[in-house]
Amino acid sequence: MDEPRRAGDEDLHITPCGDQVEHALTDDCVCGPAKEMCTDAAGATTGWLTVHHSLDGRESIEHLNHEPTQEK
Ligand SMILES: [Zn+2]
Repeated sequence: MDEPRRAGDEDLHITPCGDQVEHALTDDCVCGPAKEMCTDAAGATTGWLTVHHSLDGRESIEHLNHEPTQEK
């Protein structure tokens, strides 16, 4: 599970729990986070969501676990 953290009034950072590295809650974190603009239900901009990537390889494992099976 990822945990959202409030870093400021406008920016929300999502970092992997228990990762091997400490994530800086900035745009230039070592993991190369992806940034998305957030909007509310009315379409108004509410700030930025910065999604950090785990550096312990768990995402490649998750990818393998979600491979669709070819069996019928
Ligand atoms: Zn990061």
